[in-house]
Amino acid sequence: MSHIAPLPELDQEAPFYQPVANECALFEQAYQQRLPLLLKGPTGCGKTRFVSHMAAKLGRPLYTVSCHDDLTAADLTGRYLLQGGETRWVDGPLTRAVREGGICYLDEVVEARKDVTVVLHPLTDDRRLLPLERTGELLEAPDDFMLVVSYNPGYQHILKSLKPSTRQRFVAMSFDFPPPDIECGIVARESGLPHERCAALVNLATRLSELKGQDLEEGVSTRLLVYCATLIQAGMPILTAARATLVEPLTDDLDVQEGLMEAINATF
Ligand code: ADP
Repeated sequence: MSHIAPLPELDQEAPFYQPVANECALFEQAYQQRLPLLLKGPTGCGKTRFVSHMAAKLGRPLYTVSCHDDLTAADLTGRYLLQGGETRWVDGPLTRAVREGGICYLDEVVEARKDVTVVLHPLTDDRRLLPLERTGELLEAPDDFMLVVSYNPGYQHILKSLKPSTRQRFVAMSFDFPPPDIECGIVARESGLPHERCAALVNLATRLSELKGQDLEEGVSTRLLVYCATLIQAGMPILTAARATLVEPLTDDLDVQEGLMEAINATF
């Protein structure tokens, strides 16, 4: 039986998140059932925003960690630090989330060092334990603790994908860029640029993204469209904004940049 306290009143301050399918209900059920969650999807498609929205809605503190290739288990669990002449144990973000009953979000988890999985495994089965070898503690995660991880399957190379034995410990869902009408609403809301001008940008992004696979590794993300619309709304000329947000961040290849600019010039 679940011992989760009734949910607090819906938090009016929850960051704006536009649902695309049933992801909010799935997140909430995973939380209620104390199941860990894996979000897959390209960068800039709304995963981080989704998690912060849900954490606020559920009234749980959120600890977000952007994983990188130097990130070790100790960065998550904690370490002894010298403070004012004495050595003190300082909890890492994962340990804090476990102690407080919060949500820990590990963004791009596949980037982290191998020893991180060793910490995650006992937390993701029904024991929900976090052993802290250095302090000798064995923390049992409270019912309102939740682990959420994400990764981008698009640019994994063979050495950096999630092992099946890890992946299969999570309830998983795929994210992608929203359909054009929804994406247009998001870009308008985030940037303040009128809807019809955002629609033109979203259409352009679709055309640019068609180059994906041939010349581009990744298409134009919702994040970059928000950047572009924000600069235009702030008064920047469209072509300058487009180059800075829809071309330069996507590729370093000058020929491909030129190709993208041609498509942009033809539109505006
Ligand atoms: P990811 O974590 O997938 O890399 P983010 O969550 O940081 O992407 O999203 C990038 C930006 O795109 C957000 O800051 C927000 O402005 C916008 N965004 C994308 N999808 C949504 C959505 N469904 N609702 C609201 N904003 C969104």
